Amino acid sequence: MAVSKKVIIIGDGAAGIMAANKLRFHSTDKELEITVIGNNPRHFYKPDGVLIPFGYKNYRKSVKPVNFLLNYGVNYLKDEVLRINADENIIFLKSGKSLIGDYIIIATGDRYSPEEIPGYEGEARHFFDLQRAMELREYIKTFQGGQVFIGSAGEVIQYPESLYEFAFVLESYLAENGLKDKTTIVLATPSKELSSDPAVHRDLSGMLESRGIQFHPGVVIKSVDPKNKEVAGSDGAMYKYSLLILVPPHRGQKFAIDSGIADEKGYVVVDPKDLSVKGNRTIFAIGDANNLGLGKSAVAAHGQASFVASLIISKTVGGLKEEKMTAKVPEFALTGNDTAFSFYDAPGRASRGINVNKGDFMLRWTSADTYFSTILRGMI
Ligand SMILES: Cc1cc2nc3c(=O)[nH]c(=O)nc-3n(C[C@H](O)[C@H](O)[C@H](O)COP(=O)(O)OP(=O)(O)OC[C@H]3O[C@@H](n4cnc5c(N)ncnc54)[C@H](O)[C@@H]3O)c2cc1C
Repeated sequence: MAVSKKVIIIGDGAAGIMAANKLRFHSTDKELEITVIGNNPRHFYKPDGVLIPFGYKNYRKSVKPVNFLLNYGVNYLKDEVLRINADENIIFLKSGKSLIGDYIIIATGDRYSPEEIPGYEGEARHFFDLQRAMELREYIKTFQGGQVFIGSAGEVIQYPESLYEFAFVLESYLAENGLKDKTTIVLATPSKELSSDPAVHRDLSGMLESRGIQFHPGVVIKSVDPKNKEVAGSDGAMYKYSLLILVPPHRGQKFAIDSGIADEKGYVVVDPKDLSVKGNRTIFAIGDANNLGLGKSAVAAHGQASFVASLIISKTVGGLKEEKMTAKVPEFALTGNDTAFSFYDAPGRASRGINVNKGDFMLRWTSADTYFSTILRGMI
């Protein structure tokens, strides 16, 4: 009988859970021993961070225990990885233990780094994690009008669509609550265009204008001046605010730097062809943790997790064709007023622009259920 191979996945977020479940789906316990190591046993569906601040979603629907999300037969170890030896596949844990994996998948996502921005702490709000989204709910509840500035202090951030979503949902929330005439919304996005399809940018710019949202594409915020209530943009302009929603800079994890496998920002350097690390074809980095930084999204993480899982299955168990790394599901974005749009952002696709509709709103609104029950489960 073949000896069971050990696969260790570092990171208990979207990419790690998807990879573990997909591997379990296509192997028996005797063929692969699969372990996820993670330090966050409560998995938050981040897209709901756009809805929680407005009271449109109860956070209890957006969080599930990791143990519940992992398919039966995947081991879960709550611990933190401090370092790995990428030449000998050894993982060193905070608890003092060390583990060796025949295969290692690094899926440790981003960390936020607000301390890099002068004036940020204590002044700026955001919705990129559960705690901050819930805190923002308290500010929005008592908001009585003024200038809301929505922007980013990082050039490359998770799902930049969420900045647009937040602006649109805020606009319809203000209209519903009789505050629209008392409020100016200013949206600054770090990239000039959201998509490689120029028609998407054209359509979005038109929608923002028609909804009265001032739009400044290609601006990254460099500092916050709490005394004068203004932020400095990379375009040299100062932007006033009474409520500041500012996504903090993103960085990779410290353990990756300490392990000598990361770039200067902490992202694990991978071979873009197969996501392997340091030329070691048994160690891979997927999702937001790697340095590809193309589209930091669960959709991209899903494509990469499926690809690496299929690669490992084809090398160990067999019977599964290597999958492509491309997106398998569309990206959705809310546009307020119970509408949304969806798109596949693949280079070379025909230019289509966006089609705002109610059907995509229903899919986006219920997406946490689909995510928890199907996408994370490794079924598609
Ligand atoms: C507001 C918002 C809206 C979004 N909307 C969408 C959307 O609509 N569609 C979409 O596709 N994407 C969306 N995204 C992006 C998507 O959520 C992320 O790209 C996705 O979560 C990345 O998954 P990941 O597994 O790479 O990282 P994460 O989900 O961040 O998981 C990383 C995990 O690793 C753990 N970890 C880190 N370091 C260690 C360590 N040293 N030891 C052990 N464990 C460690 C962390 O605790 C964490 O649990 C959104 C993101 C935000 C913030």
